[in-house]
This record gives sequence, structure tokens and C-alpha cells, in this order.
Amino acid sequence: MKKLMADHFLALDRAAAEGSPKVAWCTSVGPAELLIAMGFEVYYPENHGALLGASRIATDTIPVANAIGYSPDICSYLTADVGAFLKGITPLTKAYGIKGVPKPDVLVFNTNQCRDVQDWFEWYGRHFNVPAIGVRTHRGVGEVREYMVADVAQQIKDLIPTLEKVSGNKFDIDRLREVVGLSKQCTEQWRAVLEYGARVPAQMNFFDHTIHMAPAVVLRGRPEAIEYYNTLLAELVEREKAGYSAVPGERLRLYWDGMPVWGRLRMLAELMNELKAAIVCSTYCNSWIFGAFDAADPFESMARAYTELFIVRDEAYKEAYMLEHVERYGCQGIIFHDAKTCPNNSNSRYGLPQRFAEVHGVPSLVINGDLNDLRCFSDEQAKTNIEAFVEQIEEMAA
Ligand code: SF4
Repeated sequence: MKKLMADHFLALDRAAAEGSPKVAWCTSVGPAELLIAMGFEVYYPENHGALLGASRIATDTIPVANAIGYSPDICSYLTADVGAFLKGITPLTKAYGIKGVPKPDVLVFNTNQCRDVQDWFEWYGRHFNVPAIGVRTHRGVGEVREYMVADVAQQIKDLIPTLEKVSGNKFDIDRLREVVGLSKQCTEQWRAVLEYGARVPAQMNFFDHTIHMAPAVVLRGRPEAIEYYNTLLAELVEREKAGYSAVPGERLRLYWDGMPVWGRLRMLAELMNELKAAIVCSTYCNSWIFGAFDAADPFESMARAYTELFIVRDEAYKEAYMLEHVERYGCQGIIFHDAKTCPNNSNSRYGLPQRFAEVHGVPSLVINGDLNDLRCFSDEQAKTNIEAFVEQIEEMAA
């Protein structure tokens, strides 16, 4: 994994220094396949945001963005990232010896996650004086309707003239088919990896997933991701045969909803280990399964895949989706992470935990925190609440 990520960032660094191939920044659930097909090196600022959180550098950089008018209440990936840029620091320096993030030639967003990504990319667009273009998707989607797919597919096609101009490459439909085919393969492998969480005992847990998801996020559409998951899946087969358990002595299984608390993954993983409670499934890590990809129909299938996402859907869909996964993965409870700066990925604010308890008999706990801003997260409070929640589930089961 370290080598894979190093190669990814060093290629971006080289491209930015040499001016070829051109560099495109892309949102994590944006039309990356089109950018790869057009010959760009693709950089994902949200991945950088997560690195800033995990390294806890975010704590020092968020206030820098707040000082230029980006509120402490908006996405802390955005504020951590813009603040780090203004401060001239990045975790890539320590990890790979890279001085700074690769300068973009074009920025391509998809608002399927939130509006923050558009504002984020437009800040860099103004700073570097390069195009910030994107796709505006439907939100609160119940059933995915044909008119939505047609609209998003057309918006993706409309990106092509700008991308041709910036890259100097002509669009090639066969190359796009090939890349979408690779993404589809990657998606199916990632799905298979996640399903090892459904084994009893679970072979992988949420904390493992947040590490192993990196190739599905930043290398989908490339053969390297497929090679990585081939190796991982082979290891999982061996581990299962050897009687491995992600949480030794697993006695409880839970579902995680919402963003990870990047700066506290280790603390939370150790706590869950102590409690012998395995978090076996999460909406977050499942978000990089794009089942609709189809090389035969690249634009429509990309549009469908990027519109079907959990985060874009209405409450009824989310409730049904989570219930199906809670049952399939044998979860006895749900931990909802209410992330202060990401209302888009916090699903506890409109009565969903209460509906799970009253209608489906599934208990849940809401922990307050944030993806990157650790001022919003209390170790003590989270620990006390999680311990009490685990005790409550065990009493219910007794
Ligand atoms: S979905 Fe949340 S974490 Fe992701 S970019 Fe939007 S606001 Fe930030």
C-alpha cells in the first residue's frame, strides 16, 4: 500500500513539475473515469483532506481558512486543505518527500456529495486561474429516474470540450470504455473485500476498511487498483482458512454511519478491540461501490453510478439501505457519527436513530464529533457513551 500511494503521489508531483501529463483535480465521487481516459493524472483533494485529519495537521490549518472567511461550520476537509495550502504545508512532505500538492490544470467537481466541493474547487480555480468545471446532480433522490440519468450523462459529456483544450488530447470513446471497465472491476473487488465483514467472526472491520479503501478512491480506473485487490482478496481467503478474526474474541457486531473521525481512528479501534465489538459495515466505506458502471454504456452508466450514491438519496432509501445491511452483516446496533461540519454525511438529524429503535428494534448511539476538526470530539465522552451502548446491547441480548 505504501508503495502504491507513493507511486501515485510521485507521478502527480512529476506531472505538475514537468507540465505533462496535465493534472486534473477531481472530487472523490466525480467523473474520474473521463479524466483518466483523457490522459490526466488525477488528484483527489478529499483524500488529502483525510490525510490532514489522520495526521492531525488539520487542527493547525483549519483556523487559517477560517481567518479568510471560510466558516468553522463548513466542511473541515475544505478548511483543513485550504488552510494547509495557505500555510504551505502538507502531510505528503513527510510521507513522500513532496513539497506541495500538485498544481492543477483543471478542477472537476460533482455536487452529488455536497455544495462544499464546488466552493472548495472554485477557491483553487481562482487562485491558479484555471477552469473549475463540474456536474450538478439531483439531491434527495428516491427512485433514480431516467431523466436524472440523461441529465447527468449530458453534463459529463459537456465537460469534454474544456478537457480536450486543457489536455491537448482528443476524446476517445474506446479509451473511456476501457477505463470504465477497469473501474467496474475495481468496484466489484472492493465489494468482495467489504463482504468479508459479513463473516462471523468478521475478517475485516471498519478501521481496516478506511485504510484499504484508498486504491478504490484514488486508483479506480487503473490496473494498479485491480492488482492490489487481487492480492488482498487472496490474503483474506488465507486468513479465513487460518481462523483469523479482525477483533479477537468478537462478541458484538455494529454498523457505523457517517464519516470516520480521522484523527481518532486508532483510539476508537483500540476501544472497540477492548470491548470485543467489531464494526463490520459502514455506509462510508460502501460509498465506493459503483455497481452501475458498464463499459458498453460509459456515459449513462457513470451518470447512474454517481446518482445512485447513498449520500444523494432520500431518507426512505437511506433507512431501507441501512436496514438491509444491518441485517445482512448481523449487526446488533448502529453508531451514528454526527459530524459537526458534514451535515451531508450525518444521518442522525431527522429522527433516523429513533425510527430504527421504534420500527426495527435496532438500538443506536449518536456520537458527536467531526471528520477533521478535533475541537468537536471528546475522547472521554465518546468512550463513556460507546461503553454504555455496548453494555446496553449486551443486557438486551441477555
Ligand atoms: S460530503 Fe462532507 S466531508 Fe465530503 S466534501 Fe462534502 S461536506 Fe466535506
